[in-house]
Amino acid sequence: MATILVVDDQPDNLYVLQRLLKGHGYTVMTAERGAQALELAETRQPDLVLLDVMMPEMDGFEVVQRLRANAATQSIPVVLLTANAPDERLKIQGLNLGADEYLTQPINNNELLARVRALLRTKQAQDALVRRNTQLAALLDIVQASTSTLDLGEVGQRLLAGALAATGMDMGGIWLLEGAELVALAQVGFPAEVSAARERVPLAETQVSAQAMLEQQPIYGAPRELYGPEHPLARVAETIVVLPLLHRGESLGVLQLATRQARQVDAEELAFLGAIVNAAATAVQNARLYAESNRHRQELELLDREKDEFISIISHELKNPLASIKGYAGLLQRRAKKDPTLQSAVKGLEVIEQQANRMSALLDQLRDVSQIGMDRFMIEPVPLDLTQLTQRVALDMQATTTSHEILLNIGAEPLMALIDEFRMSQVLSNLISNAIKYSPAGGPVEIEVYRSATPPHQPLELMAREWAVVTVRDHGIGIPKEAQERLFQRFFRAPNAKGGISGMGLGLYITREIVQRHGGYIWVESAEGQGSTFGVALPLLDEAAAAATHTALAEPVADATGR
Ligand code: ADP
Repeated sequence: MATILVVDDQPDNLYVLQRLLKGHGYTVMTAERGAQALELAETRQPDLVLLDVMMPEMDGFEVVQRLRANAATQSIPVVLLTANAPDERLKIQGLNLGADEYLTQPINNNELLARVRALLRTKQAQDALVRRNTQLAALLDIVQASTSTLDLGEVGQRLLAGALAATGMDMGGIWLLEGAELVALAQVGFPAEVSAARERVPLAETQVSAQAMLEQQPIYGAPRELYGPEHPLARVAETIVVLPLLHRGESLGVLQLATRQARQVDAEELAFLGAIVNAAATAVQNARLYAESNRHRQELELLDREKDEFISIISHELKNPLASIKGYAGLLQRRAKKDPTLQSAVKGLEVIEQQANRMSALLDQLRDVSQIGMDRFMIEPVPLDLTQLTQRVALDMQATTTSHEILLNIGAEPLMALIDEFRMSQVLSNLISNAIKYSPAGGPVEIEVYRSATPPHQPLELMAREWAVVTVRDHGIGIPKEAQERLFQRFFRAPNAKGGISGMGLGLYITREIVQRHGGYIWVESAEGQGSTFGVALPLLDEAAAAATHTALAEPVADATGR
């Protein structure tokens, strides 16, 4: 029932009012002076104040004024009572100062009671609204917490803060189930020794939490009764609520809220707390999954690095024996060619040398891929003419085939770009050797080198002024449409290449990496059964820039000659 503070300097009046109100079931506090009334209002938070206007030291008007000026008391309804005859001026003054009613003599008991009841009803509705508002704000914060961060510790702290703010409780914690233990995610407000003792709690020692999780129902009451008088919580809290954190029908842990005050936890509050723990459970689960997948990702990254490390070492180690195989095969070939009795071995030795060369190229590819994976793949570009470089590589490649004719279509002007000569030769020979390899029936391989401001397939983010472009075109087996997007992935080989033509599916992956490190891009156009065209575009160095880089590169040499 509601508590009413009655303030009057006349003990007789106090007595009469107290009797009347008590008779109707209200709890009554009394004060004979304004100052005392203010203190009681602030510390004891009555639901309503009945206030005499005429009092010594501080009159009723001043008391109202002060009640309204204090945040702790400003929403308590106040009824001013006066022994005087009605005076419209005073009434308006009282109401203006913030009184809710102004009753004058003769005061009718029934009217007084009716006014009190009405004011209390309004106050109750107002309080419920304020509570609801706080709850909603807290819930909103919790939902926000669960979507804005994936840090498990932070999620726990914010959930707890929200739950405490919404319920007005003083202490709380969230514990998550790990094996047969509840492990604290966050604790707030408990005395240090209590929270220290409850960092990890074996399930067997916490019947209440275990029961809440098992039955998936909240449990509330006095810790003294729930846990026994010896429990540390029994000394610090009078009321406690334990709610299971339920996610998809599974209890992940508990939320526990406690307060020093003995109080009821009503159905509405429990329903609200239910909503909080649902949000909490989802947030906790998300953060946990995130942490777990992060751990997995890190493990995978580590494994991937180790694998690259391993490939790098293996390909290096295999190069040495391979080099001596090649050396001896060459030596023996030269001897066999001179010795008529060894003619039959010549062919075999040739095959050994060829195969050793192939293997060496494969090992180089593996090493490149592992270097890329470990971020140790370096290029050192200098200004270089792409036309000349292409010409040179094309000539070398022509020596490897008799069934294909490499046709060059190039202009006379140099096309300067910043190029790592070794790596760009690798790009060109890879594209040309693919053109040869994937046109087993032979035929022309057509190479073009030209300058363009608008090469095909130019990506939006690479709008350089001009490009030096190389295209390599063959009339071989072509590439099925659906495979074209994946050609540049590690180990990918198109289905029509897999049967008869050997390869590892690494060349184009490395090629694209090299081209991209030059600030360029690579593309492919192809029709299955008709042939393919691969194109590479590199940002062109304009003449001024090329000359400037030339000078810059030349300077240290000039200095070294002693000028
Ligand atoms: P590999 O040739 O060792 O398989 P690449 O990375 O050089 O590896 O090429 C990847 C795949 O792209 C090849 O397996 C093949 O399916 C396809 N491909 C590359 N170049 C051509 C080409 N000129 N004609 C047809 N298919 C090609």
